[in-house]
Amino acid sequence: MKLAMIGFGQAGGKIVDRFLDYDDRTNSGIVRAAIAVNSAKADLIGLDNIPQENRVLIGQARVKGHGVGADNELGAEIAEEDIDEVQNAIDAIPTHEVDAFLIVAGMGGGTGSGGAPVLAKHLKRIYTIPVYGLGVLPGTDEGGIYTLNAARSFQTFVREVDNLMVFDNDSWRQTGESVEGGYDQINEEIVRRFGILFGAGEVGDGQEVAESVVDSSEIINTLSGGGVSTVGFASEEVELNTGGGLLSRFTGDGGGGSDDDLDAANTTNRITSLVRKAALGRLTLPCEIEGTERALLVLSGPSEYLNRKGIERGRKWLEEETGSMEVRGGDFPRGEPEVAAAILLSGVTNVPRIKRLQQVAIEAQDNIDDIQAESEENLEELVEDDEDELEPLF
Ligand code: GDP
Repeated sequence: MKLAMIGFGQAGGKIVDRFLDYDDRTNSGIVRAAIAVNSAKADLIGLDNIPQENRVLIGQARVKGHGVGADNELGAEIAEEDIDEVQNAIDAIPTHEVDAFLIVAGMGGGTGSGGAPVLAKHLKRIYTIPVYGLGVLPGTDEGGIYTLNAARSFQTFVREVDNLMVFDNDSWRQTGESVEGGYDQINEEIVRRFGILFGAGEVGDGQEVAESVVDSSEIINTLSGGGVSTVGFASEEVELNTGGGLLSRFTGDGGGGSDDDLDAANTTNRITSLVRKAALGRLTLPCEIEGTERALLVLSGPSEYLNRKGIERGRKWLEEETGSMEVRGGDFPRGEPEVAAAILLSGVTNVPRIKRLQQVAIEAQDNIDDIQAESEENLEELVEDDEDELEPLF
């Protein structure tokens, strides 16, 4: 699937930057174009891979390249005011070669949190291809304002995109690491998971064609219907067949000797256990998978380790676990020494993490209002003399 990626704000820009690097390393061809939008000049300068001409600085008149702090209302305002500048950058990319837009943003900050939903709304009005969001939730230790920003951005972003895929920093935080080092690892995790999912439909020169192909229309169908999505992933190292692919995927699928049969059974078992691990392990957004509306299972790895039977069993198992009648599946042959299962769970609704986020956000909002009222009172008390004997100048 070919995407036009737009990274909004610092987190969004860094993740899209990392997607370009992933594309380069794996030759996956999913990033047809990459744009970064920010109100902070320094963040744009810090990117490595996004072409200079695709870095758009917005809000110069208002914030002079210094960012919006964590004010996402201001982020939304300047996105609206400068939407033409973003559109100019998009005009320069070949949108006719693109299957969908993907807007990436951290929802806890200001620029991306406020701007990403504004851009989504704008793109949906102009283009017929889907507009997806990849929204990052802040860690719970980041504080009330980030939580409040994220809760409000989440509500708005879901409404404006064709589907919002969510990644929760909180469930991926590792203790004892610097924030920056932690983000590096987290961002790698993000691009790996979404890279395999979106890469499934793209077959480059010299790559093998999948037995049961996942094409971009299947990804689009899984995401259609809107709502919120999460991604599960599990992988296992395997040995690459260095003999040049002589071991066929069909080996052992029937008619072979007992060794071959054992291979096929192993392959099938490995796949089904990876599918379980992926669905029941750590999801990008933790949630109950029962009740998921649609799902897509992508099995990637060397073709001799993939078989139709394993994928079929994994798919059936997912149908039972989710209760969904719309579970798609396919393989994605890749010359990497690992077999991986990536599962897109689309239309999830039982998400306690979001409910908690909203609760904390409401508390933060009430606190902020209280503190503001109190500090106005305190200031008045300080400035006014007790008996009101003094007159201000004007
Ligand atoms: P903005 O530039 O105003 O849009 O704000 P940021 O993107 O800097 O921050 C928004 C939120 O994104 C933060 O609260 C963090 O939770 C998260 N964040 C910042 N940088 C990264 C990153 O590199 N990776 C990930 N996964 N999250 C990040």
